Amino acid sequence: VGREVLSEGGTEPEKFGSAGDAANAQLAAEALWAGVSERIRKKIGVSSYNSWFKPLAIAPLHDDRIILIAATAFLRDWIRNNYLALVLQEVRRDMPHVRDVAIELGVGKAPRSAEATTASPDPADTATDKVPAEAKVARDTSSLTGALDENLTFDNFVTGKANELAYAAARRVAESDDVAFNPLFLYSGVGLGKTHLMQAIAWHIHQTRPERKVMYLSAEKFMYQFIRAVRFKDTMAFKEQFRSVDVLMIDDLQFFSDKDSTQEEFFHTFNELVDRKHQVVISADRSPSDLDGMEERIRSRLGWGLVADIHPTSFELRVGILEQKAALYPAIHIPEDVIQFLAHRITSNVRELEGALKRVIAHHELMGRAITLELAQDILTDLLRANARKITIDEIQRKVAEHFSIKVTEMSSSRRARAVARPRQIAMFLAKKLTTRSFPEIGRKFGNRDHTTVLHGVRRIEELIQDDASLAEDVRLLEAALSN
Ligand code: ADP
Ligand code: MG
Repeated sequence: VGREVLSEGGTEPEKFGSAGDAANAQLAAEALWAGVSERIRKKIGVSSYNSWFKPLAIAPLHDDRIILIAATAFLRDWIRNNYLALVLQEVRRDMPHVRDVAIELGVGKAPRSAEATTASPDPADTATDKVPAEAKVARDTSSLTGALDENLTFDNFVTGKANELAYAAARRVAESDDVAFNPLFLYSGVGLGKTHLMQAIAWHIHQTRPERKVMYLSAEKFMYQFIRAVRFKDTMAFKEQFRSVDVLMIDDLQFFSDKDSTQEEFFHTFNELVDRKHQVVISADRSPSDLDGMEERIRSRLGWGLVADIHPTSFELRVGILEQKAALYPAIHIPEDVIQFLAHRITSNVRELEGALKRVIAHHELMGRAITLELAQDILTDLLRANARKITIDEIQRKVAEHFSIKVTEMSSSRRARAVARPRQIAMFLAKKLTTRSFPEIGRKFGNRDHTTVLHGVRRIEELIQDDASLAEDVRLLEAALSN
């Protein structure tokens, strides 16, 4: 259905993209949507966004009409009744000439991830409530790959120190028949690759041993299905569908917090699978012991297998990820300094990093602006501000003292020997440059010095940077280390 809907208006993609072909119109649409949906996410919050916007696809661009694609009538109507004005408003920020935004029913492309389709009661699901257990199992497992994002594979996962343990563990689970550790428990902050690794496991198993039944779902979906099963007195079928799988993966387990009966049911299912030596993989935003809404015995049981956390990314890893994502757009050259800039400044999580890159590409595609550092700075101000790490004076003092091998206490001491006075001035200079503190505030942090002393110190370093190459280099290194 989807494709027919899309072509009926006679798309004229020539305006977008150099070759003027349909692929470019689609690429341009996706690039536009990346930026627009990111802003919508900020506006309406992650959970509403995940429920309503994440599952949407966008049709190739018409010149004055944007068409979104929803996979269910329910979703389509919900967006139509609640969000179209917001979408139009956000679209016009990038493309002021757009006349209207429509939403149609269609297959579109696979949703970004399975969890995307879960948060809302899906009428397609409700319709099958009376279907016998076997049929349900078949439906759920055969539709598994439909719910997966084809980009979330091991091949597309860039590894570094921050995530190598989690990656190795996920690979091991995907590749071996025996159950090495049960459960595999992955945890990290948001946007660092948990869902990516879980879906990569599912893909790998699906491709190498299609006979194995893999089930991937979010804790929310588990909860929803369970509550529905209870309501329809259908818990036997519910239990059956989980107990028949070889690998069960539950994403974002923290959503179980304080849901007693669901927790209990999950725990039974979990124990049964583990007893039968079927693999269980869990993800959450914190470690098992920190899942405070969970019962103690469940928490401790979750930690019996392998617990692997994913750390915040390093600069090098971010560069690697950007290079890999940029390679997905072979026709577009992204200069090295832009990559470095993004890796340097967007440190919060990989999702935002990807969003930033897509937005840069979108502007290039839509506005024909060359991809430069200025462009990136210009269009990413909101992201950059949100990512600006708050550097503290204490941190600056520590780093500078360490760099010059002096004691931190010298920062507030009254000693005036050059060996301590110069580093102190450098620290003042950096405090002025990298924080929003005033001269008097900085003075107080440096042993209650007068603000004129700080002012003098800052000026002195500004002069020396011009004349003294080695001091300039020290300052540059320190600044880089502090801003990372
Ligand atoms: P989480 O589930 O931990 O919140 P996701 O797995 O959804 O995070 O990751 C967010 C986005 O970042 C996804 O698009 C994912 O593909 C990407 N991503 C995260 N880590 C990596 C990585 N190491 N290499 C490539 N892409 C990554
Ligand atoms: Mg996730």
